[in-house]
Amino acid sequence: MAMAAVISLEESRQSFAKTRARQDLHEYLDGWLDRLEATMADDTPSLEELTHAVFAMRQELTGRITQALVEQWHARGLHQRTMPCPHCQRLLPARPAPPRTVHTMVGEVSLGRPYFYCSHCQRGFSPLDDALQLSERRTQWDMQKAAARLAAEVPFETAQELFAELTGLSLSDHTIHEVTGELSHELGVLEVSPTAAEIAHRVAEMAAGKTWRPVMVLAIDGAYVPTRPEQAKGQVTGRRHTRAKRAGWQGEWKEAKGFRFYLVDKERIVHVLSWHQVQTDKEAAEALRQVNAAGLIPEDQVRLCVIGDGAKWIWKQVKTLFPTAVQILDYYHCREHMHKVGGLQFGDDAVQEQEWVEAMMARLFWGYVDWAIEGLEALQPRDRHAAEEIRKLIGSLRNSAGRLHYRVARKGGYPIGSGGIEAANKCISHVRLKRSGAWWYIEKANQMLALRCAAYNGTFDSVFEVYKRRVLQRHRGNPL
Ligand SMILES: [Zn+2]
Repeated sequence: MAMAAVISLEESRQSFAKTRARQDLHEYLDGWLDRLEATMADDTPSLEELTHAVFAMRQELTGRITQALVEQWHARGLHQRTMPCPHCQRLLPARPAPPRTVHTMVGEVSLGRPYFYCSHCQRGFSPLDDALQLSERRTQWDMQKAAARLAAEVPFETAQELFAELTGLSLSDHTIHEVTGELSHELGVLEVSPTAAEIAHRVAEMAAGKTWRPVMVLAIDGAYVPTRPEQAKGQVTGRRHTRAKRAGWQGEWKEAKGFRFYLVDKERIVHVLSWHQVQTDKEAAEALRQVNAAGLIPEDQVRLCVIGDGAKWIWKQVKTLFPTAVQILDYYHCREHMHKVGGLQFGDDAVQEQEWVEAMMARLFWGYVDWAIEGLEALQPRDRHAAEEIRKLIGSLRNSAGRLHYRVARKGGYPIGSGGIEAANKCISHVRLKRSGAWWYIEKANQMLALRCAAYNGTFDSVFEVYKRRVLQRHRGNPL
């Protein structure tokens, strides 16, 4: 009975506080409406004029509502008088401190929260910040996330402009750079990959109502990105006027090696996962190994096929990791090679070159690899250069004999060209990294590529969540 009375007293105190908070808000809303009305120029405003006025002032209101909600849900934390020091357990009294104002997507929120300082440990604490999971930055997580998402799509400067235009909030260039850098720092292939369950779900959707298991393609290829050398970071020595004439470094195009898994049928392509980095063959192979080891590719649920060019590391790795996959030498890569030989051999006669290439590709398409090789052997090389290219092409066809069954592949529903990875190269690498005048440090290029892979793979939210947890954890372990 006594217990029930205590609970009901506590409940009524809470409901009283809630009623008070609501009354305050209603009053604030009245004042807000008055101020809004005062900004209207005429008596018959257009809808656009009205939305403009509301847009300009909306964050004051939504920020204030959020503040009231914090006051309602965290009343205890806001009025905390004492706390034991988490390190030495001494009881600390709350000290007067100026309110902390944070910026969120719904406006500024001002928090008059208690502050505690242990002079013995020489540390200060704001327990409410932990309870609210505040970022140490003034700019809170929701704004950080939106800014980084924009920066992953467009240059930083444009991101800043768009952010201000679309939200009415401003963000410093410095914050966008820092957040994007921290978020994408040390992202590996597994961090940006969908989970095995998500991939299995995409496979199941593709398989629904069909007799055959869906075809999953692993396409491997590179894309060139503009990079700048590390020494461009350092101070250039020499007098100012000589420095200004020419940068002390030269940009270089480097290959971002990448792979993409996707599902394909007659009607559509369903993306599964992409990973692109400026990296060595060995690093690309290692990333592929990690994907395989993490069990992300449900090989028993799909018909896996691999499309790549002649790069040795690709086929070596595929043989080890996906031994049962159908292997296909990219048809267009093969055709390009054929054109190179044709050009050297029949250079003056474009028609003859074209006919010869078509005939050779037809032989390959129908599976007559030996016949194609015989055709090459029968050529009388026009010069030494042509002879060398013919020899190389014969070698490459012999090595790839098992990867040239184009017609059979087609019949089985497998693609024969790597259009899928070219699309990924374009969307992930080129769109963001190839900008006139933009040369990237390799580390920065790779961070941006990783972030774009996350966005493309549908894992940007989870990547951001991991970053947020990491930062919060770091701050908890090391309070101010
Ligand atoms: Zn202490």
